[in-house]
Amino acid sequence: MTEIKTNETINVFPCTYILISRAIRPLDHETITKICQQDENFQKRVLDFLINICGSSVYTDIEFQDWSEYEPDKSSNGGCYRFSKHYYYNKDSDLWTLQYETSADMEYCPICGHFGNHEEYDDDTFIGYSCGSAKIISSTKMIQTVISFMLNYKDDTNHIMLVR
Ligand SMILES: [Zn+2]
Repeated sequence: MTEIKTNETINVFPCTYILISRAIRPLDHETITKICQQDENFQKRVLDFLINICGSSVYTDIEFQDWSEYEPDKSSNGGCYRFSKHYYYNKDSDLWTLQYETSADMEYCPICGHFGNHEEYDDDTFIGYSCGSAKIISSTKMIQTVISFMLNYKDDTNHIMLVR
């Protein structure tokens, strides 16, 4: 077994040991170190996600909201919108499907996250989107996405994660 040495100090709480044991498979060493440098509440949230996204499928809906350009008066057609990357879990396939969403009233493509309608029809039958198909990720990739969002936007109130 390779010994991994680090000079970085980590914060060890009662939850930290189980957190590390759960995190070793889906997360890399650098990410685990960064998580262990956070406070106890942060570590507990990560552990909860590790258990309930990767271990069992308690959470089925994860939304990353970007409010950085949002202005209430201009949020429907004024050019200052909220944007979301919204992942929906499918229990049968054990995969997460990404859908883009916005506060804007205009047509907005859920597949590529650009304004416009990319739906394609054969006569009246919907056959798909001209820009491709929805991005689909595994639960391992989902937990990696959640953790990197938590670390990147820890002190940023314009970026919000909703987990249901
Ligand atoms: Zn599109």
